[in-house]
Amino acid sequence: MYTMAEEKLGRVFYARQKWGVRIAMPEKHKRHRVRIEKITYETKDSRAFIFVPMDSEEGLFSYMPGQFFVLESQVTRPRTFVYDKSKGTMVGIGETATVVDKRAFSIVSSPAEHEYIELLLKSEEGLFVPYFLDEDKAGNICTLIGPQGKFMHNLLENKEKLIACWSSGSGIASTISLMQYTLDMGLDSKIIVFDSNRTEDDIIFYERIKRLVSESENFYAVFTDTKDNKIPISDHPRIFYRSGRFWVNGENPLEKYAGSNWRDYFNTICGSSSFINGRTRDKQGRSVKLGKGIEDHLLEAGIPQSRIEKDQFYLL
Ligand SMILES: Cc1cc2nc3c(=O)[nH]c(=O)nc-3n(C[C@H](O)[C@H](O)[C@H](O)COP(=O)(O)OP(=O)(O)OC[C@H]3O[C@@H](n4cnc5c(N)ncnc54)[C@H](O)[C@@H]3O)c2cc1C
Repeated sequence: MYTMAEEKLGRVFYARQKWGVRIAMPEKHKRHRVRIEKITYETKDSRAFIFVPMDSEEGLFSYMPGQFFVLESQVTRPRTFVYDKSKGTMVGIGETATVVDKRAFSIVSSPAEHEYIELLLKSEEGLFVPYFLDEDKAGNICTLIGPQGKFMHNLLENKEKLIACWSSGSGIASTISLMQYTLDMGLDSKIIVFDSNRTEDDIIFYERIKRLVSESENFYAVFTDTKDNKIPISDHPRIFYRSGRFWVNGENPLEKYAGSNWRDYFNTICGSSSFINGRTRDKQGRSVKLGKGIEDHLLEAGIPQSRIEKDQFYLL
């Protein structure tokens, strides 16, 4: 049986009955021509983009929180890149060229919003985003391919009521979609956001997270700054601040902020590999496991793998 909330989503859910279980059908990887309607400055290295459909919107809005689109666009950038061991990033050299390239970006908007798609682009000093952000793209035409992906699929399919969303940097995108969707659909899920950033200035969608928390008694946010030790004073009973990485010195943040039923929480983790599983690049640019990520800590705390969903953005 569909709930009333799901009925309202008519265009969003492609579902079928199979052995009595509802299965969400993935949308085909369609190409959508879209225009950049609005760009919002979020942090020094990230911007939020609103895309509106140019042609048919069929399939464009048939997505669920956690899914992503591949953004394909022209960018003008150096022809050649080399790996800079001291910086740990790719560095462009030589003359520039205009090329078509693409990257994946999680959907920020809620599936209940049928007018536009919002994506968040954060530069990781790579080959696409820095050059895309460099140009004033308002009014430009790009292509979105999707929606794609299964992140948060189990959470939504199982109608989880207790959810902990762990994010670092741009990993907050899907959490925003889930929170807004939860509000739009009148769902009663409890969501705790654990959001990790270098400093307070690096928190993406900071004001929006605080607004969303204030709009539902079921929403909580825990912000941690890993590089500066200034801990802001919270003026909201469901917004908390701390400093340093999560799960250090024997602390179990899930227990601390979720309370005695912390083992019942379903966990989503989104961001770089170092945040998820401690894998990063060594000086030669090779993948190495240097420490523990959120997934390691959750597993060590006894959370089963089946209660964890993760979305890795890149190796870093
Ligand atoms: C499913 C999914 C969802 C995503 N959602 C988002 C999102 O919502 N927002 C967002 O900002 N990003 C998201 N990403 C990541 C996004 O696709 C980009 O990778 C990211 O934005 C960085 O783009 P970039 O052009 O700066 O770096 P990229 O060119 O993508 O490179 C990423 C990093 O790897 C390094 N690198 C690249 N090539 C090499 C190489 N050959 N050797 C060594 N190092 C290398 C770069 O220097 C950079 O640090 C998502 C990724 C996936 C897979």
